Amino acid sequence: MTIELCYKPIAGRSRYEDLIKRRCYKPAGHTGKCEEFPYLAHLKQVAPRVEAKIKRDATKTTGAAWKSDDAGPNRIDRWVMLLPDDELHSRFGINIAAMKPQVQAKLREKAATYEDCMEVAAKLALNVYQMRNAPPAPPEILQYLEARFDAFRPNSTRCIVCRDHLDFKLFENAQRGRAHIETAHANPRMHNPDNVGFAHRECNIAQGSLSLQDFYDWIRSIVARVDAHLS
Ligand SMILES: [Zn+2]
Ligand SMILES: [Zn+2]
Repeated sequence: MTIELCYKPIAGRSRYEDLIKRRCYKPAGHTGKCEEFPYLAHLKQVAPRVEAKIKRDATKTTGAAWKSDDAGPNRIDRWVMLLPDDELHSRFGINIAAMKPQVQAKLREKAATYEDCMEVAAKLALNVYQMRNAPPAPPEILQYLEARFDAFRPNSTRCIVCRDHLDFKLFENAQRGRAHIETAHANPRMHNPDNVGFAHRECNIAQGSLSLQDFYDWIRSIVARVDAHLS
C-alpha cells in the first residue's frame, strides 16, 4: 500500500531555510493545517523526549561537546553539510578547513538531503511503535505509517547491531543521563530509511565508524583468534 502526501510548502525559520523546500507530510487532501511531522503528534504528548530525539537524529548532525573552530558546529541541519567548503564559509561562516580532519570527515558523512531526513524520521517513528512496551499508536498514525512503509509488526524492532529486541523503556534512562538507545546506521555514511535504525548504546559504540558488515567480520576474526588460542 502506498499513500499520496500533501507536499505543500511549509515556512520554516532556520538559518538555512533557503537550502531546502520544507513540505507538508500529511496525506494529500487532508483537513486542518499542513504539518511536517504529523505522525509524531502522539509521541509528542506521551513521550516528548523520544519525539524530539527522532526529529533531531533524523535531521541534525551529531553535536560537538564544546564550541570552538576546530571542533566544528554543534548540531547542524544535515542538508547544510551538502554544500561545498567555500559556500559553507562564505554564506554561513562555517570554516571546514579549520577543523580537525576527523571532524571534517564526520560532518561530511552526516550530510543528507531534506527528503532523506524526512523519510528517516517517519521510519524511526515506526520503529519506536514496534518496540516492546511501546505506547500503542493511535489508529490514524498506524495506518499512515503502514501506508508509507510496511505492515505494522508489534514487538519486532531489534537493535540493528546485535539483533536483540529493543524495549521502549530503555528510552526512559535518557532522563538520568545518556539514552540507552541510539540511532544507528548499518553503513555510517548513508542516511536513508533502509540504512537507519535503533541500536543499544553499547552496540552503537562498539560498531564505531565501521559498516555492520566490516564490524561483524572484525568480531568474527577476534573470536576465531581467541578460540584458536584457547584450544
Ligand atoms: Zn498539507
Ligand atoms: Zn544491541
